[in-house]
Formats: sequence, C-alpha cells, structure tokens
Amino acid sequence: MFCPECGLEYEEGSSLCEDCGVELVEDPLGEEAPEELEFVPLGEVTDATVFAIVTSQLEEAGIPWFVQSEKESMAMVYVARNRLAEAHRELAAAASPVAVCEGN
Ligand SMILES: [Zn+2]
Repeated sequence: MFCPECGLEYEEGSSLCEDCGVELVEDPLGEEAPEELEFVPLGEVTDATVFAIVTSQLEEAGIPWFVQSEKESMAMVYVARNRLAEAHRELAAAASPVAVCEGN
C-alpha cells in the first residue's frame, strides 16, 4: 500500500497516510516480487531410466521441477510445492517398475 499524495509506502494493514490523511492505494506498479515458486523434494532418483521417466512425466504434466545432484549417479528431484500432490499422482504409475508388459 502507498499514499497517492506523498508516495510513502506503508505496510499491509494501514489504510490512511499518517501525513496526508488520504486513503492508501494498492501499488499500481505491482512492484511486489513475482510469485516465487517454492520447491520441495519429491524424491531421490539413482536410476537414469527412472530419472528420464520421472522428468518426462513432470514435463508432460507441466509441473515445474529441477534436479540437484548430490552425489554422482544420484539426483534429488524437486517440484513446485503447490504441485507436489499432483506430482505424486503422476509418478505413482510412471515411476513404478519400468518393465511394462506389452502383449497379453
Ligand atoms: Zn501521504
């Protein structure tokens, strides 16, 4: 919030400028930091094949993700916190054993 008269900024919760006595307005420039995604660990992946499946599933679902390698051949996959449940659902099937039986 800020005062349209003097331009002074106020914390959320104030409604009047203490100097001018005018009503505060929302910052029209929207200078607030762009919504930052918070990432939470989804799980460790040590298998390259699984890794490929997991990341392609996440891509397909449009879930933001990144990987942080902690050791060689081991990666921690992070996904956006607000999509974590969705990521789990997506992976419930995909990350299960890679062996897919074709043919009945
Ligand atoms: Zn003011």
